[in-house]
Amino acid sequence: MSRKAAAKTVKRILVVEDNEMNMKLFNDLLEVTGYEVMQSRNGYDAMEQAKKQKPDLVLMDIQLPEVTGTEVIKWFKADPDLKDIPVIAVTAHAMKEEERRIRESGCEYYMTKPISLPHFLETVAKFLKFPD
Ligand code: MN
Repeated sequence: MSRKAAAKTVKRILVVEDNEMNMKLFNDLLEVTGYEVMQSRNGYDAMEQAKKQKPDLVLMDIQLPEVTGTEVIKWFKADPDLKDIPVIAVTAHAMKEEERRIRESGCEYYMTKPISLPHFLETVAKFLKFPD
């Protein structure tokens, strides 16, 4: 693939995260890897942005203001336009019961903070089939 053609297929990731330090970490890590990042800090905004921008992948924090990431994932999965976008749920604490609820929300993958950087990037790449 030529350089020009490759530039057109940059994968776009919507990061939903209300903690600024984590947002910066995810943003910088993904950008430096070659992805385009869109940022959202709450569930309603995430839905709105996703509908407009059609990201290739969503990274979803679970502890969010107003509506939990678990609920937002259910909205995504119930929406015909959004249901096929892979969602990786990221959460700080994983009580068994909460972990079960998150998994049942329909997310494609689930990981706990603090994230392992190699595992994180590998997982993102796997869902984006990047590089291809
Ligand atoms: Mn949070």
